[in-house]
Amino acid sequence: MRKNVIAGNWKMNKTASEAREFVEAIREKIPANDKAEAIICAPFPYLPALVEATEGTEIKVSAQNMHFEDSGAFTGEVSPVMLKDIGVTHVVLGHSERRELFAETDETVNKKTRAAHAHGLTPIVCVGESLEQREANETVELVRSQVTAALKDLTAEEIAKTIIAYEPIWAIGTGKTASSEDANEVCREIRNVIKELTSEETADKVIIQYGGSVKPATIDELLSQSDVDGALVGGASLEADSFLSLVEAGI
Ligand code: PGA
Repeated sequence: MRKNVIAGNWKMNKTASEAREFVEAIREKIPANDKAEAIICAPFPYLPALVEATEGTEIKVSAQNMHFEDSGAFTGEVSPVMLKDIGVTHVVLGHSERRELFAETDETVNKKTRAAHAHGLTPIVCVGESLEQREANETVELVRSQVTAALKDLTAEEIAKTIIAYEPIWAIGTGKTASSEDANEVCREIRNVIKELTSEETADKVIIQYGGSVKPATIDELLSQSDVDGALVGGASLEADSFLSLVEAGI
């Protein structure tokens, strides 16, 4: 059985003290369980403190991006070696904001995904269509090609450990969500691609999240879908109570 993985993507928000307060508020409230996993995807400066503050809890800490090289002359970049070294376990890759605003391509997302696995980090690879692409009926084709490109040259074992987040761009931060059935249909299609690339056994292991204006009020229906294994949540992950209720929905 796949777990429900609830990842809170803080994006470029919070001060250091707000980040600490958030963890204080939730750290004792997430019980050990085998149904749901809680991940906080925080800005780089807060990662070491969050790793320390979540020690001994069920909460995992994720970066929101990284470079694919181990080290070298890449001013302003953070490497997988550094993330691993400070105890980070996950990294969000290819978020649509990075693709749109910071020129990430399918190729860089693939390099980063391979680098994450090479260093024992779990990548959360984001894919999803724009409104234009949805209206032009290109969603399935686009998402299939993004997934195929991101997973290029990965072993089946690495693919099984990759988290895919399906995030329709038009639903991110807009209050508009895909219906649970539509979200499930695309998530199922993603699982089909993975099956074609590997095997049914591997595809059945992959965690596929939905993201885009997920709220406590909408999470139950989403998680009841056959191929949605959690959520990548922006806005509704910024308040401790709201994040907690999302995680609780997954348990
Ligand atoms: P949202 O963001 O929940 O605020 O729509 C989701 C995301 O970008 O990961």
